[in-house]
Amino acid sequence: MSQQLNQVFLMQKNFSQNAAHEFRTPLTIMKTRIGLFRKKNGLQAPQTEELLQIMEGEANRLSAMVGSLLELTNLEQEDSFEPFHPGKLLQAVADEVSPLAQERQVSITVNASPSTLWGNKHLLHRALFNLMENAVKYSEAGGKVAAAVRCENGWVRVGVTDQGPGIPEELRQQIFEPFFRVDKARSRQQGGVGLGLALVRAIAEHHGGAVIAEAAEAGGSRFVLTLPCEPCPEGTEA
Ligand code: ADP
Repeated sequence: MSQQLNQVFLMQKNFSQNAAHEFRTPLTIMKTRIGLFRKKNGLQAPQTEELLQIMEGEANRLSAMVGSLLELTNLEQEDSFEPFHPGKLLQAVADEVSPLAQERQVSITVNASPSTLWGNKHLLHRALFNLMENAVKYSEAGGKVAAAVRCENGWVRVGVTDQGPGIPEELRQQIFEPFFRVDKARSRQQGGVGLGLALVRAIAEHHGGAVIAEAAEAGGSRFVLTLPCEPCPEGTEA
C-alpha cells in the first residue's frame, strides 16, 4: 500500500515537473512577442493597450507560477548545505522586502539572537522571503510586522508576526497546500499564485523542520518556522 502511494506521489511529482518545464517555452515566446510588438508599433489605441497589459500581466503570473512549481519539485537537488547566521539572513530578507513595506506603509522590525544554522541558505532565504512578503502583503497601511529568531534547546525558531486579517483556525493547515487561498480574489489582486506557503513547508521539511500558522496575540497571524540546529561539520563554523 505504502509502496503504491509512493509511486503515485512520484508520478504526480514528475508530471508537475514536466508540465512546468513544458510551459516555460511558450510563455517566454508570448512575452517576447508582446515586447517586440510594443517596440515595433509604439503606443497603441486604448483598447489594444488594455488587451496587451492583460496579456502581459497574465503571462507574468503564469511565469511566476511555473517558477514556483519548478522550485517545489526540484528541492531534492538543492543539497549544498553551509553554515550561516539565520539572524543576518532574516535582516537581509527584511531589507529586500522593505521597498514593498514602504509602499504599503507597513513597518518591519527584526530581533535576532546569535545562532548558527547548517542548511541550504538559498532555500531558507526563499522561505523567509515568502513569510515576510506575505506578512507585508496581507497587512493594512500602518500595520507592523515583527520578525524574530530565537535559539532554544537545539532548535532555531523564526517567527514572523503581522497585524493583518489573521487566518481562520480551521484553515491554518490548509493554507500550506499548493494553490489554496483563503480569499482567492485578494490573493490574485496582490499578485499571489498560491504556492508560497507550500514552498515554505517543503523547505522546512527538507531541513528536518516544520512551519505552523497561529493567531497573534494582538490579532493578525504569526508564522513559526522551526529548524533543527544541526552541529556544523568541523571547520565550517559561520
Ligand atoms: P499567495 O500567493 O496567495 O499569497 P501563499 O501560499 O503564500 O499564496 O499563501 C496561501 C494563502 O494563505 C494566501 O492566499 C492567504 O489567503 C493566506 N495567507 C498567507 N499569509 C498570510 C498572512 N500573513 N496573513 C493572512 N493570510 C495569509
